[in-house]
Amino acid sequence: MKKKELLPALALMTLSTSSLAASLPKVEMAFWQNDAYGAYSINHDDFCVDNTFGLIKYALPELKKRGLKAAFGVIASDCKDEHWDVLKQAINDGHEIYNHAWTHVTPNDDNWSNDEQIKHPHQVISQKLNYQPTFYAFTMDQGSDDAVNYLQNMPGYVGTRAINYVNNTGVNFDEDKNDFAVRYDLYTVTGQWSIYEKKKEGKDILNMHADMAARSGGWAYRTAHGVEDTSWNSIPLAIYLDHLDHIQAKVQDNELWVAPVSEVIKYRATRRECAMTQTAIDQHSVKLSFDDSPACKKVASDVTFIVYGKVSQIVQNQKALAPTANTEKQAMFNANPLDGEITVKF
Ligand SMILES: [Zn+2]
Repeated sequence: MKKKELLPALALMTLSTSSLAASLPKVEMAFWQNDAYGAYSINHDDFCVDNTFGLIKYALPELKKRGLKAAFGVIASDCKDEHWDVLKQAINDGHEIYNHAWTHVTPNDDNWSNDEQIKHPHQVISQKLNYQPTFYAFTMDQGSDDAVNYLQNMPGYVGTRAINYVNNTGVNFDEDKNDFAVRYDLYTVTGQWSIYEKKKEGKDILNMHADMAARSGGWAYRTAHGVEDTSWNSIPLAIYLDHLDHIQAKVQDNELWVAPVSEVIKYRATRRECAMTQTAIDQHSVKLSFDDSPACKKVASDVTFIVYGKVSQIVQNQKALAPTANTEKQAMFNANPLDGEITVKF
């Protein structure tokens, strides 16, 4: 065959493959788990400090009653045996434990040490709980670029709250790509420093921040301390319970995915880093393959896939995956891109 004749043949092949792919249902990663509209994380700082006793007395049991998962930031030098026991149970219940320094120092002080305030508490928490923290929150939400760099090089760490709060309030959107500068809203009784302070008018800023995620499709991170205790700006119990009921209803309506901070960071980073390619295999099946770059390997977690059509079989690495939903119009399933290519049959 002459070179000239080869060209139309190639063009025809390309055309037939793309028209085959175009006729098959599209598959995409859902923005948030189970295709919830927005995401929300509750974070309680200062666990183990005596004045946050309400976290053990109220927060943990009330979260458990409602099937909600949160994250607890540990000041490791303050933890006694009874705290470690409670934290072990919290991990078993699906909560996250994050590193909130060794002592409650001011990070901008001259005597700050990355080894002492980041690495050392990590090692102690790992030993005591047989658990690797993956998130860090700087005390007083202050810190230096050097400390953030140090944290980014800590194995396993996927993020931290942004230092310099006043410039980093609000909801996180996809354009906020830096997982080591997570935006948040800080709970105070009066709403001071919150972006909702002026709009509050008797409303609860906890609910306002969660609602912002449910309305915008972004991810809202709440920073709080204790509940009905003597900690700094402790949340009154009635307001906390109302908030948990409020977000539980939003979870039931799939308006919000409520999950611990590292789960949300890993989810959105998986979408970002493990880019998916969809290729038609034949008239009834497609193959999904993923970019397994080092960035993807670091963060990859289970994500939800949406298929715009009814599926008959989903296979990943010779293992059948069960769809979590499957109608004529749409199916969903959960999988981790690192587990390999996925074949979807229709
Ligand atoms: Zn703190």
